[in-house]
Amino acid sequence: MTAARPSREDDLAALCRACGLCCDGALFGRVPLAPDEAEPLRRRGLRVVGAGALEQPCAALSPSPDDRACTLYDERPAACRAFVCTLHATHAQSGGPLEPRLAVVRRARALLAELDRAQAAGEEPPLSLVAALRGELAASFGRAAAAK
Ligand code: SF4
Ligand code: SF4
Repeated sequence: MTAARPSREDDLAALCRACGLCCDGALFGRVPLAPDEAEPLRRRGLRVVGAGALEQPCAALSPSPDDRACTLYDERPAACRAFVCTLHATHAQSGGPLEPRLAVVRRARALLAELDRAQAAGEEPPLSLVAALRGELAASFGRAAAAK
């Protein structure tokens, strides 16, 4: 008996759990909150700053590099629910093999890791690295339309 192929919803969840770029500060510095969202999130230990914004990297993001789950998924703010990147939207619409989408995530994360490494070492990141990262993020991780 062969195992059932994961559903598209399963694939999308796996994609986000491999990625986390919209929660770890790579794409956004802060997530805007509705007025009634700030206090409950602050009480849960999340870093809410200014008039009501969730500081990133988000403290609700699982620290595991292999499983970047939102630990508040069912209670995440409206702005988190509303964001969906192009890569996610493309897979939601077209389906197909997940591996090429995961490869895009791995590429972006490798570039970000290289940038972090250079910055931690006090080095000027090569322009080629910065350009490659900008291109990768713009091509695949910009805002699409539908809910996440
Ligand atoms: S919505 Fe896009 S950027 Fe956010 S975790 Fe999922 S794949 Fe990554
Ligand atoms: S609350 Fe969840 S979905 Fe929103 S930024 Fe934090 S980890 Fe990401």
